Amino acid sequence: MTLYFKNGEYTEKDKLSISIDDRGYYFGDGVYEVIKVYGGKLYTAEEHFGRFLSSAQKIRMPLPYTVEEFIGIAEELVRANGISEGHVYLQATRGVAPRIHNFPGDEVLPMITAYAIDNPQPLGKLEMGVAVRTADDIRWLRCDIKSLNLLANVMAKQEAVEAGCGEAVFVRDGIVTEGSSSNIFGVKDGILYTHPATNLILNGITRRVVLKCCAAESIGVMEEPYTLEELRGMDEVFLTSTTSEITPIISIDGETVGDGTPGPVTSRLQRVFEKTIQQAMQETN
Ligand SMILES: *Cc1c(COP(=O)(O)O)cnc(C)c1O
Repeated sequence: MTLYFKNGEYTEKDKLSISIDDRGYYFGDGVYEVIKVYGGKLYTAEEHFGRFLSSAQKIRMPLPYTVEEFIGIAEELVRANGISEGHVYLQATRGVAPRIHNFPGDEVLPMITAYAIDNPQPLGKLEMGVAVRTADDIRWLRCDIKSLNLLANVMAKQEAVEAGCGEAVFVRDGIVTEGSSSNIFGVKDGILYTHPATNLILNGITRRVVLKCCAAESIGVMEEPYTLEELRGMDEVFLTSTTSEITPIISIDGETVGDGTPGPVTSRLQRVFEKTIQQAMQETN
């Protein structure tokens, strides 16, 4: 039996339904989060739900729960479904109302749904790396919002998969922004390069953990825009996300990165990242 959350209630998945008039269905009018579960415990949950509240605020959608309450919901889903290695998906739409573009009245409350699912670490990809394909970044200019509107991301990812690649890398005006659902990093002469956290990227929680790991390890970081040409010339390239962690990128549009194997800085950051997971699992809450 799989229990899902819907507006305050935990219900069996098969018994749960959503209105056809949900604004998420019509407009993608909502925001979401994905939080990883290791050893039955949520990883960086405060950061994820902090960003969730911030995404909702940016689209002017008041939410009825605090960060602590959202953590409680996620923990209950993990516990009730017996998830050890997996993730929690949580989204909020602007609720159910007849299809009119402008916001419904204040009496219409957000539709909040969530579930927890098994999803082990992608050990093969973490070790061997993935190929990526570039795509024109045709997204809107508020990529800092983790919005349900993912059509450009879906199209780019599909083209990448059809080309046998694991991720699409967006390029806007020659500048590498991010992946379709990940952040992109390059390493050149021991220095880490990644796009700054502007409106043009989603500031990943994993990205933030990696930057902290770099500070702790005295690895130099340049949060500056860099071109696709520069990315191609990097010694190492990797991507980060909640479910992909730190995944090496071994080729870009069929062109090998470095010697085509995961590089030393990437591997070192993977080890430091793994330690943060072990620490989070040991903390009592
Ligand atoms: C979620 C997401 C990321 C990665 O963020 P994490 O918090 O590390 O999972 C990066 N880019 C986009 C477009 C995303 O939606």
